Amino acid sequence: MTAPPTNREVLDALTVIVGEHHVLTGEDVGHRWDGYPPVRPMDCRCIVRPATTDEVAAILRYCNYHLIPVVAQGGRTGLSGGASVSVGDVALSLERFRAIGEIDPAGMIVEVEAGVPLEALQQAVQKSEFCFGVDLGARGSATIGGMIATNAGGNAVMRYGMMREQVLGLEAVLADGTILTSNSRVLKNNTGYDLKQLFIGSEGTLGVVTRATLRLRSAPSSSCTAFAGLATFEAVLALLRLASSLCEGALSTFEVMWPGFVHPILQHGNHLPPLANQHKFYVLLEVASRSAQESVEHLLNQAIKQSLIQDAVIAQNTAQAEKLWALRDDIDALIAVHGPAFLYDVSIAQSAMESYLERVERSLRSRWPDVRVAKFGHLADGNIHLCIHTGSSADHAAVDVIVYRALASYGGSISAEHGIGLEKRSFLDVSRNPSEIALMRNIKKSLDPRNILNPGKIFL
Ligand SMILES: Cc1cc2nc3c(=O)[nH]c(=O)nc-3n(C[C@H](O)[C@H](O)[C@H](O)COP(=O)(O)OP(=O)(O)OC[C@H]3O[C@@H](n4cnc5c(N)ncnc54)[C@H](O)[C@@H]3O)c2cc1C
Repeated sequence: MTAPPTNREVLDALTVIVGEHHVLTGEDVGHRWDGYPPVRPMDCRCIVRPATTDEVAAILRYCNYHLIPVVAQGGRTGLSGGASVSVGDVALSLERFRAIGEIDPAGMIVEVEAGVPLEALQQAVQKSEFCFGVDLGARGSATIGGMIATNAGGNAVMRYGMMREQVLGLEAVLADGTILTSNSRVLKNNTGYDLKQLFIGSEGTLGVVTRATLRLRSAPSSSCTAFAGLATFEAVLALLRLASSLCEGALSTFEVMWPGFVHPILQHGNHLPPLANQHKFYVLLEVASRSAQESVEHLLNQAIKQSLIQDAVIAQNTAQAEKLWALRDDIDALIAVHGPAFLYDVSIAQSAMESYLERVERSLRSRWPDVRVAKFGHLADGNIHLCIHTGSSADHAAVDVIVYRALASYGGSISAEHGIGLEKRSFLDVSRNPSEIALMRNIKKSLDPRNILNPGKIFL
């Protein structure tokens, strides 16, 4: 048996692969945050920044041989601790994988490297007649590779689907350095197992994604955003049904927000209240079509006639729409008011949502009478986010138990879109049965037998 390499030998070997400016240590590591929210500085062996797929392959071959854990990192905006590092880890940053290929207008596709931030892709695509189907609040930093690895969802899932529906093909590097090119450019490709899907949502545990071919959609010629106040959850569900039927596939967003989310942000964020009075429920909806404005006006008129909404405002231009979205996205203002909160991302059938939320809040209040619970989410996808503030970080594990275990009897999911990472691995059994977990473990063993890729993530 050969002795494991010293730290100096590891750094030297990685420097030979990527060059001396691309192996970062010491302060260059410590000045980056270890995930989101930004509370803990990164502390790991080094950050290595390859520029080519061959360099990624060489790094993985070396680390696999020497049993050195490797954590792939994109923008580190993931909300489950998937990109979090430990002291001996090599963080493999895709930040030099920034190329965006030419748009193929006939195929409606674009090939991109994994480190491209979502916003950069959106800007590149904006110049064409197309758009990219996934959008989310962390667009400035979240990368395509990270979004693939977490199967990100976001604001327009009801219309375009999650990342699984956007990826036609990809290139990934396996733990032993094998470069797997599964880069199909066509929508239909039934040639055995769909290998790319293995890597989508695998949170860096099965391979490092280096590039992908993405579907584009025809950009809607116009869109219209509205913000409404409602009195009951039944009315919110009825408005969703009405919008889905009247807007005929053009409804791209239906976000529900509770007062515990909206009111603190209005009080302490930099926003003007969109509506004159306070309401029990708020909905931010968007329709994207040639006649978006007329559709939204018609929808809201019908909703008023059916007494579903109490008040509403329609954005008259892009700036007003952006202000409504800024309110929905201002999690930082919420955290500024309440202090650090425990964040949850669950999904559950809409019909069970209210009962589940009431049950969770009752349990929380019986233990922490002053608990603050902010709720918002992508209602059409059954996806609710909860920000829970008890005042003490020591309560995190106990709150997890309340939020996650209550889901079991409703058949809900502990992770609608953020993944499992470190934070939810003890609760995987709430949403996955033993045979599913056993098969997942077998897939992991077969692709990464020496367990170097993001070890400890997803499974305990
Ligand atoms: C303000 C805010 C809003 C958000 N809104 C949403 C939302 O609406 N919907 C949603 O789904 N998510 C949302 N997120 C979560 C986050 O943005 C997504 O999970 C995003 O996909 C992570 O991308 P990233 O590049 O930051 O990945 P990272 O955080 O760097 O990594 C996430 C995981 O992917 C792995 N990984 C990263 N790159 C690669 C790669 N190239 N190959 C293999 N594995 C890789 C990491 O190891 C880790 O396990 C939000 C986050 C924030 C901070």
